[in-house]
Amino acid sequence: MQADSPDSPDCLSCGACCRTGHDGRILVPPEDLARWRELGRADLAEAVQAGHFGCVAFATRMDGACVHLGTEECANACQIYEIRGTTCRDFEAGSPQCLEFRRDFGVD
Ligand code: SF4
Ligand code: SF4
Repeated sequence: MQADSPDSPDCLSCGACCRTGHDGRILVPPEDLARWRELGRADLAEAVQAGHFGCVAFATRMDGACVHLGTEECANACQIYEIRGTTCRDFEAGSPQCLEFRRDFGVD
């Protein structure tokens, strides 16, 4: 989900929490859909899928990773990092949950 804060792990080389989106777990609030449309990125708003709690969520690949994960330079970087979702921004890099994701995906 690739949050950022000083002294936190480098999200753009990690991407562990972006690989946990199976079954619509990485939710996308309505304000993100509106923001992307205002930015001329309606394609992002249209690419979501049904998520938990009656919300929408980032669509995922067959392996469960968010469809926006992976650039030409790095398979673990978010393609839309500057305009990524609120859920992604709010997820705290360096938090216990972040470190658990990193352990699960063998990042550390
Ligand atoms: S939009 Fe980017 S930061 Fe958010 S889950 Fe997808 S790949 Fe990760
Ligand atoms: S698991 Fe932590 S370090 Fe890795 S991308 Fe997510 S928030 Fe960033």
